Amino acid sequence: MSLRVVDVHVHLKGVEKPIDIIRSMDNANIDYLVLIAPYRQKFMPHGRISAPNIKSVKEGNDFVANLVNEFPDRLRGYAFITGTGDIKENIAELERAICDLGLHGVKMFPNLGWYPDDDRMYPLYERIEDLGIPILFHCGIAPWITDIYGNGPFLSKYSRPIYYEAIPRLFPKIKIILAHMGWPWYMEAITLAYLTPNVYLDICTEFTTATEDLKVEALRFALKTIGSERLLYASDATPLSWEFMKEHLDKTIQLLRRAGATNDDLRKILGENACKLFKI
Ligand SMILES: [Zn+2]
Repeated sequence: MSLRVVDVHVHLKGVEKPIDIIRSMDNANIDYLVLIAPYRQKFMPHGRISAPNIKSVKEGNDFVANLVNEFPDRLRGYAFITGTGDIKENIAELERAICDLGLHGVKMFPNLGWYPDDDRMYPLYERIEDLGIPILFHCGIAPWITDIYGNGPFLSKYSRPIYYEAIPRLFPKIKIILAHMGWPWYMEAITLAYLTPNVYLDICTEFTTATEDLKVEALRFALKTIGSERLLYASDATPLSWEFMKEHLDKTIQLLRRAGATNDDLRKILGENACKLFKI
């Protein structure tokens, strides 16, 4: 079976060279990566979370745009938008990243301290809906408590699946990707996707404490409940870690097979769905 593989959740560190990413993808048998602007290390001021460091957010969005524009036949990019501080400033950076830099989606991390259904965010979602681009939200447990400077704490309560419920209902044209199937609240995330057709799930549960059997059970429940059209392959990897990327891809195919995925399901989950979403 020939497959086109698209990984929709890959984190840049902010030091990568484009050609090294392409080599790594070739080694890992990945056709496309959707890269997230670097933010884990760079975007926040020292001290507790208070305001976005807009300068480093811009630098991160410039960085990913430069990479993806060099290899448009292999790479797509998400802008990182903090959702903190003045929402007009967030919208201005969104417009710059999508309209001027040519990025393809937005990544958001509510664990910075805001609830996704806070109506303060609505003007931003409205603009995202107008632009016709997908949002990847971190969803589920917060994988790290602080960033490398000790900023935080990042609390998981902000990214429970249920707090995303209002968005697809109020903005029915937005395509929302909930990362990690909302782990450990996968029942909640899958049920939300069942009820609202514009919700997609990325199936990466790599960083969690989930056992393989539990991962298979979650994937089986997802396939039975919403089918394969809105499940997306993701690794949460960094793009130069090709050995991990390759292993993760092989492992995920095994897990999907055990969960009852057909060849047709695999083709959709591993690539076809993402191709439609990111206009590949
Ligand atoms: Zn991630």
